[in-house]
Amino acid sequence: MTETQYISEPERKIPVTVCDVLVVGAGTAGCIAAIAAARQGADVVLVEKLPVPGGTYTNGGIGANSFYAMAQDGVPVKRTVGGIPYELNQRLMKAGGGTGYIPSPRDPHHSPYRFVADHEIYKGVVSEMLLESGVRVYLQTFFCGVLTEGKTITAALIENKDGRHAIRARQYIDASGDGDVARSAGLVQKEIWQDYHQVTGAPTGLVFGMGGVDTGRMLKENPQGVVMLSGAPTGIPGVVAEQYAFTTLRDPLKYKPVADLNLRSFTSMSSIHKGEMTYINNSKGVDCDASRADEMSRAEMEMRVLIMKFAGALRECVPGFEAAYMSWASVQLGIRASRVTICDKMLTQEEISNAARFEDEIGLFGFHDLYKKNNPECRIRKPGFYGFPYRMLLPVGCDNLFMAGRCVTADLKAHMSTRNVPGCQVMGQGAGVAAALCADSGCMTRELPYRQLREALLKQNVILD
Ligand SMILES: Cc1cc2nc3c(=O)[nH]c(=O)nc-3n(C[C@H](O)[C@H](O)[C@H](O)COP(=O)(O)OP(=O)(O)OC[C@H]3O[C@@H](n4cnc5c(N)ncnc54)[C@H](O)[C@@H]3O)c2cc1C
Repeated sequence: MTETQYISEPERKIPVTVCDVLVVGAGTAGCIAAIAAARQGADVVLVEKLPVPGGTYTNGGIGANSFYAMAQDGVPVKRTVGGIPYELNQRLMKAGGGTGYIPSPRDPHHSPYRFVADHEIYKGVVSEMLLESGVRVYLQTFFCGVLTEGKTITAALIENKDGRHAIRARQYIDASGDGDVARSAGLVQKEIWQDYHQVTGAPTGLVFGMGGVDTGRMLKENPQGVVMLSGAPTGIPGVVAEQYAFTTLRDPLKYKPVADLNLRSFTSMSSIHKGEMTYINNSKGVDCDASRADEMSRAEMEMRVLIMKFAGALRECVPGFEAAYMSWASVQLGIRASRVTICDKMLTQEEISNAARFEDEIGLFGFHDLYKKNNPECRIRKPGFYGFPYRMLLPVGCDNLFMAGRCVTADLKAHMSTRNVPGCQVMGQGAGVAAALCADSGCMTRELPYRQLREALLKQNVILD
């Protein structure tokens, strides 16, 4: 291996933007965090490297199943996620881009209801909410680093078409997925992507859709391979949500072109528009350390090749797909896990299965993706949900930074719960409200009185009991 060479950049003056709260990453958690902070009265800047807000939800949100507590035998299901995530869903439905909550009777303990968003409408609805909130959004803007003094971040550095800038905020929220802010502040992180095979197919995935699919024929002529898991009219004219499972296992000869690709035998598919398989997700992505640019680039390209071949193989061997074509694909590789940042409280699998509650909760959550039929670990005990403590957002070693999204929870099995879409959104709202309160009162993250945070969260319709 060649030794890395270094040069020194000439010192230069760069313009500074001042705000109360800086959110890095306009993804699943970051958009909610920014809106929550702005509604709490803060002057908020949100930076995102891609041209469109939404993050992995718009890319990978096959079904956000966790707005309700896990159904328990004989116990009625309670909605546990409210606030901005729930409002977003209501607005998606109104705009014709949300399926509503579809019951999953075949699998009630795992996900009593699924909510599937149309990724294109989501982009519009979340943009509308950001515009209304007054958040200052900078898209196509890369977060590059921080300046620190002791345990405090004093400025963040960003680059975009206008050049290099500094943003000086009172409070910072790292919603970059990979913990880029925490990393550049030198905080302690743990890589979890290598072990992700133990809990699911792979740490990455690339979701795509196909138009021109004859779903009627697909079901009729693939009785061995394709099963409809759920189907429900959504109340929105023309929007019928159907969830399918496709497996090559029962007829490997018929589905040989797909089987030869060495993907997972199980593929999850959702259709929310007639003649379209809106989301096709095979969990077996490639391994990738998403914290490294070369690794990300390799994985991104390998997955582009793989989904191109996968779409071709579906066309070749699955009746109903003969005239199908790839109609869209995620803008960037979907990452389930890269590295997580060590926070004051790290949730454990044991706490999740035992429905643990905490004195400093910022929200509730009732979904676990640790799915294997009859696996007791994937159940959450009665009442089917657990609490997210405020401390899970606070990275060890920094006094004015919050973490929100898939960048927390080092216990692999526990990560399979907290990383899901509504979990990230709940953390986003908690971090946004707390950051705004800290900025307003000039206190550090660990000095914020919980009673004040709780009152503000309840005013934003967060469900806490
Ligand atoms: C293939 C796949 C399928 C999934 N299916 C489901 C499902 O069915 N149901 C479910 O609930 N969950 C699902 N998930 C999980 C869920 O979608 C993610 O865990 C969640 O969306 C992550 O949210 P986040 O806010 O942490 O990260 P993201 O939504 O990825 O947001 C991070 C944002 O930060 C930006 N960013 C990163 N670095 C920088 C930087 N340096 N500068 C500026 N911006 C930056 C990124 O571009 C991105 O927009 C799936 C995930 C994958 C990959």
